[in-house]
Amino acid sequence: MNTISERLSEIQNRMAQAAQRANRDTREIRVVGVSKMHPPDLIGEAYAAGLTDFGESRIQEAEPKIDALQDECGGIVWHLIGALQTNKAKRAVRLFDMIHSLDRLALAHTLNRHLAEAVGDGHPSAPPQRLAVLLQVNVSGEASKYGFSLSGWEHNHEVLQRFFGEVEQIITLPHLAVRGLMTIAPWSDDPEASRPTFRSTQQLRDMLARQFPKQDWSELSMGMTNDFPVAIEEGATLVRIGRAIFGERPV
Ligand SMILES: *Cc1c(COP(=O)(O)O)cnc(C)c1O
Repeated sequence: MNTISERLSEIQNRMAQAAQRANRDTREIRVVGVSKMHPPDLIGEAYAAGLTDFGESRIQEAEPKIDALQDECGGIVWHLIGALQTNKAKRAVRLFDMIHSLDRLALAHTLNRHLAEAVGDGHPSAPPQRLAVLLQVNVSGEASKYGFSLSGWEHNHEVLQRFFGEVEQIITLPHLAVRGLMTIAPWSDDPEASRPTFRSTQQLRDMLARQFPKQDWSELSMGMTNDFPVAIEEGATLVRIGRAIFGERPV
């Protein structure tokens, strides 16, 4: 069994190789260590080994862990990567530095409203003026996946126009800072099976950048343990890696 530190350097090597294949600079790619189901001391170990970004899926699980690590690992950047229920949005805006799972227009309005209330309320956990968010997109059409529904956007003008309309509203919200897109490829043992999803997401991002040129579209959150090298070849800037760092999750 390797240590977390050894696993992290192995991942760095594979990232560097993937970046080189795609002629990309590794400095534009960050690892988000997915620590869901793992205890705070393991997160502390990864932090000590140099990992600064961590991803959690559930508010109820993340809240006590973020609390427990506040003092010792105060430099951690927390990412919410799992589906966010409307009734938990209020807690989420104080806990996380970036929300990857903004998957519907109504949630954007809810987050903005809670941020308007929480910003500058003097509480130590008051959120920043603008919270960084990614729009989660479903380009594959897989029924089980959350995200703005964009299946077939490449040849369906209506699908794209509807999404543009929603994006137009989201980017005007004063307390959200849209930074890019997030996607999850349909599950497969074969990492190559994820490539079309990642490529389509990058192309969609390029379309958005043309449509809304004043907006920052630089981030692409895609790729997990099984397919992160392919995601990097297709432009990922944030790879969400759990098992390759922490091992299999306890069940
Ligand atoms: C659990 C999870 C991951 C990490 O998956 P691994 O296979 O453990 O790397 C990444 N992204 C999301 C959205 C997840 O829920």
